[in-house]
Amino acid sequence: MNAPFLHVEQLRPLPLDGRILTVALIVPVHNEKDAIEPFLQTVRACVDSLASNGVAFEFVFVNDGSQDATLAHLLDAAQKDMRIRVIDLSRNFGKEAALTAGLDACDADAAIPIDVDLQDPPAIIPQLVEKWREGYEVVVARRVDRSSDSFLKYSSASLFYRIHNWIAQQKIPQDVGDFRLIDRQVIEALKTLPERRRFMKGLFAWVGFRTATVDYVRKPRTTGSTKFSGWKLWNFALEGITSFSTAPLEIWTYIGAMISIFSFLYGLLIVAKTLFFGIDVPGYASLLVSILFLGGIQLLGIGILGQYLGRVYVEIKQRPNYIVRRTFGGE
Ligand code: UDP
Ligand code: MG
Repeated sequence: MNAPFLHVEQLRPLPLDGRILTVALIVPVHNEKDAIEPFLQTVRACVDSLASNGVAFEFVFVNDGSQDATLAHLLDAAQKDMRIRVIDLSRNFGKEAALTAGLDACDADAAIPIDVDLQDPPAIIPQLVEKWREGYEVVVARRVDRSSDSFLKYSSASLFYRIHNWIAQQKIPQDVGDFRLIDRQVIEALKTLPERRRFMKGLFAWVGFRTATVDYVRKPRTTGSTKFSGWKLWNFALEGITSFSTAPLEIWTYIGAMISIFSFLYGLLIVAKTLFFGIDVPGYASLLVSILFLGGIQLLGIGILGQYLGRVYVEIKQRPNYIVRRTFGGE
């Protein structure tokens, strides 16, 4: 009869004061009035079974400046369910800021950021919790099949991961989103990161900790439409790369050096040619090409400086990541 006892020993111990373990779902919502009810129904069905195992759930919704009836729907739900808390931001701050607001507000033993559109399947939450109780501080959910994404989104995402992981020191695992379980220790670590421009996936990777992986299949959105246009995604990718790598800044040293060496050798060649074969008038085409080429390279270099300088500027203003209008529910 030793085996079951050993198994229990390996699990994350229950708090000594007789409290049960709490896990908070952090749900950022922006214009999602029709998604809330289906989300709550599905999630409740998945997490209620865990209550008997000593794990209680709470739902922290962050209303990220919705212009529709999202807040009313949330408050309605909160009235019927004590486990629901609502953080109402003063305007739309973006998903990253909303997640940060939710993590800052939650005091549970672990948190799971999750999209309200049911693209992150709540059905695997019990598996995430199980891995956590085995002792992992981070349990990431990995999409094994991205066929619900368009070809363009899939291929640009995979190009992004490739470039990012090539030049950044902290690699982001591919096909892993914000959907994951993080232990209180990880939440506290995230809170110590002072930056304003928050690329959550990168920050999650940066803080480290012992990580386990659970696979799932990503489904299409159930209601509403995506809040991320191509332009937003492009900026998001830029954010990811500039937040975690200075390689684009430094590469200009090498490109500049190479072009200088090449130009010097070319100069020598022209001088020698003039000395030995006399003055040669044509050369207009090569002159124009090299001027345009160098002009282009210089503008690109300045543009990249601008990308970083802009971020330094935002960072230095030290504005908060989000502003809370009101909090509903909880203690
Ligand atoms: N979201 C948010 N603020 C925003 C944009 C999106 O809180 O400015 C929320 C949105 O309500 C959803 C989640 O972030 O719960 C993911 O958004 P979406 O499904 O549009 O992204 P996708 O799945 O297309 O990447
Ligand atoms: Mg979605």
